Amino acid sequence: MVTDNPSDSPNEENEKLDVLKSTQTVVKIALEQLGYPDEVYDLLKEPIRMMTVRIPVRMDDDSIKIFTGYRAQHNDAVGPTKGGVRFHPHVSEKEVKALSIWMSLKAGIVDLPYGGGKGGIVCDPREMSFRELEGLSRGYVRAISQIVGPTKDIPAPDVFTNPQIMAWMMDEYSRIDEFNNPGFITGKPIVLGGSHGRESATAKGVTICIDEAVKKKNIKVKGSRVVIQGFGNAGSYLAKFMHDAGAKVVGISDAYGGLYDPNGLDIDYLLDRRDSFGTVTKLFSDTITNDELLELECDILVPAAVENQITEKNAHKINASIIVEAANGPTTLEATRILSERGILLVPDVLASAGGVTVSYFEWVQNNQGYYWSEEEIEEKLYKVMTKGFNAVYSTAETRKVDMRLAAYMVGVRKMAEAARFRGWI
Ligand code: GLU
Repeated sequence: MVTDNPSDSPNEENEKLDVLKSTQTVVKIALEQLGYPDEVYDLLKEPIRMMTVRIPVRMDDDSIKIFTGYRAQHNDAVGPTKGGVRFHPHVSEKEVKALSIWMSLKAGIVDLPYGGGKGGIVCDPREMSFRELEGLSRGYVRAISQIVGPTKDIPAPDVFTNPQIMAWMMDEYSRIDEFNNPGFITGKPIVLGGSHGRESATAKGVTICIDEAVKKKNIKVKGSRVVIQGFGNAGSYLAKFMHDAGAKVVGISDAYGGLYDPNGLDIDYLLDRRDSFGTVTKLFSDTITNDELLELECDILVPAAVENQITEKNAHKINASIIVEAANGPTTLEATRILSERGILLVPDVLASAGGVTVSYFEWVQNNQGYYWSEEEIEEKLYKVMTKGFNAVYSTAETRKVDMRLAAYMVGVRKMAEAARFRGWI
């Protein structure tokens, strides 16, 4: 195929949306900026371990369906690997690998004693029954049981997985291990050793980043206009926190479209009507598209859905002063450059979404010590960890004169590189 403009060729287009490639690009630059030799990049550019599994599940109509799942362990120099399991039709090996690298970076930025891990199963939980989902969750744990465990690799929730799924997984692992093992997984229901504040932790972490970011831009949260793309776990709790803090949430969306009201949406009503997958817009006729939503005029824009939403195609049209990435990978590298040239303050995913894994860490610590903290104690600890992470990234961006994403990667990669060096790996 011949194109007039070579930069528009489908291959280049795909490369720009290749989350693993773009993650590797920034890791490489971050390591170069920090003065590490090439072999450090060679070690960190891919997970140290990647498992692909095939999971047979008996479906409700008695047929057997075989699902494909993955578990990536990026690097365990600092400690056991840690990260969620995603149930989604678009899960791929590449995506899981990139997500595991992002988990390593998050752990580095908020200084947790972990490396990054991630799992995913190619499936559509919206079309599966409760019983089928239980079979799939248990089958996945049986398939990966040899490489996971409370001192090896600790799973957690991610897109379309929840405390119930964590409970089944914990139960399955405990049966295999022959003793009750709550520290195998985080994001569990409270009665099974879950932590207070875990469900809303990602959104709380995003809120803390917003509070820090507005100070830098001389904006007040109260009265500010907020647009949130995605109404799942992070997006819905965030809408509630922003609404309660006196901000006007003027736009929200789900996979099917968006809602807009310049006077502020009725968030309590929307939360009441959303289903467990975060779908709510189907109840309305006057919706806007997700593309239109991202271009709405606002002070704070929060992509809280999936990857590659802000690209070079729409980055020029973003009408926000601050972007805080609650989703993993919502902005491409070209878009990051355009936004930073336009003076928009972008708080990158590996920092902004680190609240979830931080409270997961608190959950794991509580499981290990067998002594549990109150919601207030968790909130106080999360606040300290997130503000420290934010300031480390912000000051690195200022002193090294780099954008916030590169600064976050520099902060995030350092501890892992140092740990690998002390261990004598590189
Ligand atoms: N899945 C979440 C993330 O992407 C949380 C991971 C965890 O709690 O371990 O950060």
